[in-house]
Amino acid sequence: MQVKAPRGTYDLLPGQIERWQWLIAQAREVFTQYGYGEIITPIFEHAELIERGVGETTDIVSKQMYTFSDKSGRRLTLRPEWTAPVVRAYLEHNLHARPQPVKLYYIGPSFRYERPQAGRYRQFHQLGAEAIGSADPALDAEMIAMPIELYRRLGLSRFVILLNSIGCPVCRPAYRQALRAALAPHLEELCPVCRTRYDLNPLRILDCKSEKCHELSAGVPASREFLCRECADHFAQVQAILEAFGLEYRLDDRLVRGLDYYTKTVFEVTSPDLGSQSSLLGGGRYDGLVEECGGPPTPGVGFAAGMERAMSVMEEQGLNPPVKGGPDVFVVTAGGSRAGEYGVRLRGLALLNELRRAGLTAETDYMNRSLKAQLKAAGRLSSRFALIIGSEEMAKNTVQIKDMQQGTQEELPLDSDLIGWIQQRIGGSKQ
Ligand SMILES: [Zn+2]
Ligand SMILES: [Zn+2]
Repeated sequence: MQVKAPRGTYDLLPGQIERWQWLIAQAREVFTQYGYGEIITPIFEHAELIERGVGETTDIVSKQMYTFSDKSGRRLTLRPEWTAPVVRAYLEHNLHARPQPVKLYYIGPSFRYERPQAGRYRQFHQLGAEAIGSADPALDAEMIAMPIELYRRLGLSRFVILLNSIGCPVCRPAYRQALRAALAPHLEELCPVCRTRYDLNPLRILDCKSEKCHELSAGVPASREFLCRECADHFAQVQAILEAFGLEYRLDDRLVRGLDYYTKTVFEVTSPDLGSQSSLLGGGRYDGLVEECGGPPTPGVGFAAGMERAMSVMEEQGLNPPVKGGPDVFVVTAGGSRAGEYGVRLRGLALLNELRRAGLTAETDYMNRSLKAQLKAAGRLSSRFALIIGSEEMAKNTVQIKDMQQGTQEELPLDSDLIGWIQQRIGGSKQ
């Protein structure tokens, strides 16, 4: 039986990977410009970090984790998101002793046991950033503006920024009570999940996908009406900064985000060009998370973007990386690997090796093709030059260089500065 890739996973092949790498390269460039340094954390963490950090009542912890025991009986979890691991690293390496805020970005896979569908995978990939150690609303705005700048550079043009504030431990209890009071008459009509949310985390009822729950929660008060003075001030500043950046946003009462650690600002950026899974990125402030993970009270804010979502918009809109040319040189050896002709092949391979070591992109034939077929292959790959060695050239100690663009051909001595000759003609693009 032929084994396939596990459900919810996929392969990236040449032809798609160029766009993927372009996304990553642009992300690195933008995040660096905004002053973020890269962090890479382990793919698995102790299960309890995720349980405590992400929150027991979240969908992630209650049903989507890849948790297993290793041979020593440790309970480990494949990373379902990056914020808790980044906060763990922040504490473990005493980053709070460094100048604050610590600004970090990440790019890599995360794992959630979800029902796969278009744009949703079990191994998915996230790029995101965290700024830990400052409560400045400018950072909340930066976490929205920075990824939008990234997408803008990739050619995406249409965004909807959804914004909300869900308050802090000072003001949220009153809101929870108001929410419960408003929903109490309909408690029995809520879906079974929301009936448990009612006690544990009633805010999550607001983003339930069930139509009935949606209807029942339509008239409930908004969290923004319950913000304490500090939260209200903070939220007003976030909005003022977004306006100063020229970013339009929409206030969304139902935006509560599925993670327990959020406080104050929460946001989501959606694309009108995506279907039902329209969210490009989401994030928010998490002023209690560092303390929850065993550290001193430390504010933080971050976002995470799904790379698959970005890829599908890019694919749909035909946004491709700048076209990279083919190889600089295709080495054609006339005379295959048959006995007696191997000298030609060997000379060709040595030359190929030399070209590559000089930093040129060089390719050759591996299928024992005829001279004509090799030249055709060089053309198919859009090679700039074809370097031809046959037994005649071997005898004269020369090579033929064919300019594949101009169609011209020259014979050069093998001991001349072949590499210099090529480098000069392909211009300043290669060093
Ligand atoms: Zn508050
Ligand atoms: Zn529900």
